[in-house]
Amino acid sequence: MAETLLDKVWRAHTVRTLPSGQTQLFFGLHLIHEVTTPQAFQMLREAGLGVRFPERTFATIDHIVPTASQFRPFRDTLAEEMTVHLVRNCKEFGIPLFDLDSGRQGIVHVIGPELGLTQPGMTIACGDSHTSTHGALGALAFGIGTSQVRDVLATQCLAMAKPKLRQIRVEEVLRPGVYAKDMILAIIHRLGVKGGVGYAYEYAGSAVEAMSMEERLTICNMSIEGGARVGYVNPDATTFSYLKGRPFAPKGEAFDRAVMWWKSMATEPGATFDDVVPLDAGSIQPMVTWGINPGQSVGVGEPIPHPTEAPEAERASWAEALAFMALDSGRPIAGTPIDVAFIGSCTNARLSDLRAAAEVARGRKVAKGIRALVVPGSQEVARAAEGEGLHEIFLEAGFEWRKAGCSLCLGMNEDKLTGREICASSSNRNFKGRQGSPTGRTLLMSPAMVAAAAIAGAVTDVREWLR
Ligand code: SF4
Repeated sequence: MAETLLDKVWRAHTVRTLPSGQTQLFFGLHLIHEVTTPQAFQMLREAGLGVRFPERTFATIDHIVPTASQFRPFRDTLAEEMTVHLVRNCKEFGIPLFDLDSGRQGIVHVIGPELGLTQPGMTIACGDSHTSTHGALGALAFGIGTSQVRDVLATQCLAMAKPKLRQIRVEEVLRPGVYAKDMILAIIHRLGVKGGVGYAYEYAGSAVEAMSMEERLTICNMSIEGGARVGYVNPDATTFSYLKGRPFAPKGEAFDRAVMWWKSMATEPGATFDDVVPLDAGSIQPMVTWGINPGQSVGVGEPIPHPTEAPEAERASWAEALAFMALDSGRPIAGTPIDVAFIGSCTNARLSDLRAAAEVARGRKVAKGIRALVVPGSQEVARAAEGEGLHEIFLEAGFEWRKAGCSLCLGMNEDKLTGREICASSSNRNFKGRQGSPTGRTLLMSPAMVAAAAIAGAVTDVREWLR
């Protein structure tokens, strides 16, 4: 019988079926960072346990790291303390750490693929919700909690229930000015933020197959925002050429052998799914969120909806979202003034994202009074962007050019919204308080849309800004 990638990877990593019916699943790769690990390491020590596979565990500093100046000790004493803990824990347990002086530091979901640590057919765990990102390379990648981080450190295994599988088939092509971010926002808009609960998402169809690896990473990154803990794209020629030559990818003949195995892990023709959702890429517009979850979005050419348009069960939450955002139903989302523009995060801070934003920013100026930040996803992205002169384009336009880190994606470092500020953001969450101010407001959109909003001082349709 034809099998899916989910079936094959799950089976290949099954240690045994537990009495509960769950699977004891082995994880090929464990990525860690400074925020969800201090307690996990402490619990290991208290239990007298070591790290079972330090060679399968890799660490970086991303969430709390300042992005303006990264000189140690950090001004933020909590950030400094967490960094000291991570450095000490990695040293004690023999875990490789991509520290600030490594040239390889960056957001965990940017550096995993970039270094070739993330490979097809793998199971991956990381104490961060957006671990689904790594599925872009044909891996099953799960975001886990702190006690599960402890369990993976100690055993490299977790008790897991196999999810159902929904294939999302996106056919045709995205129109100019419409990006991977718009596609995933459109998918979440259609299926809802809880639509994927209990499912893994397999992204397929001609529009997905035509995507670069960086675009696929953006799509898989936000699977969790649609409720699916895991999202993946089947490995193909794009995957293999992306991995070739990366520091941790197999080399020479070992690479050729790996490609054979990676190919064998892909979903086979005729495999069946628990659900299939078709989507037409050509119908997708640049998307903007108007609410407080990533499913509350509209096309940039559309008006902000009214709660009466919501399904009955969601009317109260739509009303709450509109009241919090202080946006008027019926008015176009385009023209909504912004205070801050943020291009960054594990969703959209890779080289192609910065290129798309720089294309809009080139020769233009950020509107007066707008604070605009560009934060590369990794030191490698920063080097590549600087090699192309993208940083000069941003600086000349009035953007700040920062160092790698999570930055304004969440309020755990020095980059935060203040008061009721409204932020055009290329990140992945628009929850209340997400960007560091309990009353701050977030509008999610593509990096090119953020660049256009920074220049216009308000939400605008990037298609009118393309040259
Ligand atoms: S960029 Fe945002 S979503 Fe991604 S790992 Fe950092 S905090 Fe999490």
